[in-house]
Amino acid sequence: ATTSLPSAASSRLEGKVALITGGASGIGECTAQVFAHHGAKVIIADIQDELGHLVSQSIGETNCKYVHCDVTDESQVKNAVDKAVETFGKLDIMFNNAGISDHCGPRIVDNDKASFERVLSVNVTGVFLGIKHASQAMIRARSGSIISTASISSDIAGTASHAYTCSKHAVVGLTKNAAVELGQFGIRVNCVSPHGIATPMATKFSGNSVEQIENKVNSIANLKHVTLKPEDVANAALFLASDEGRYISGLNLLIDGGFSIV
Ligand code: NAD
Repeated sequence: ATTSLPSAASSRLEGKVALITGGASGIGECTAQVFAHHGAKVIIADIQDELGHLVSQSIGETNCKYVHCDVTDESQVKNAVDKAVETFGKLDIMFNNAGISDHCGPRIVDNDKASFERVLSVNVTGVFLGIKHASQAMIRARSGSIISTASISSDIAGTASHAYTCSKHAVVGLTKNAAVELGQFGIRVNCVSPHGIATPMATKFSGNSVEQIENKVNSIANLKHVTLKPEDVANAALFLASDEGRYISGLNLLIDGGFSIV
């Protein structure tokens, strides 16, 4: 995907090291580009190895490396954190962004336990493991910013399946508890919650084209003249990751153009 970046390089994340899960595609890929543009060294962690390597090559392997990491596997999450510290010397920013939707549609009566648990395993356990292992590295440094991608489904119901809505509400709970536990170590914990964006996840699970998804979201949005893009999430994460957000912790930052307040 092509990310539109400001023409001049910027230093809002100069000297910082970021680990981005789900960084091979969509919001994570875009955030890797934006963070690197703003001076960060970036580790991309994903299960799509070919795509992940392509993203790290496009950023430049001096500033960006790819590591295979299934966020549901604790040893792989620990390994990704270790790789960031070994490669770039520390970990300042953890972006728990990997996530999946499910095919089941909104009907609880039709769902099976394994499918429900699969969504929770990636979207909730993956975030728990990311917070756990990133914070171990950050506690040593007495500083850090952890951000997770929730969704408007963290705040409202009915726009996604029950499993997805449940998982994204849980991300907010984890974020708040972690913010309370980790504040004493100088670690801030927040999440970002976008409305629908036409990423590969959205096209795959809805069966709709990019244009169909964007038209559908625009038709129900408040800000009808703007189309929500991965950059909008990446820029929100950039603010929370940078020192500009130094007093913000425990926040669920909705990126929905006011959709969920109506
Ligand atoms: P995407 O499919 O483009 O990217 C998700 C990435 O996560 C993929 O590269 C995928 O390989 C990776 N991933 C999936 N399971 C993984 C696992 N077990 N371990 C490691 N990586 C794994 O989709 P996206 O829209 O960019 O999604 C990113 C995040 O944004 C997700 O948490 C999603 O729930 C959230 N979100 C998306 C939307 C939307 O409409 N696209 C809206 C709100 C929230």
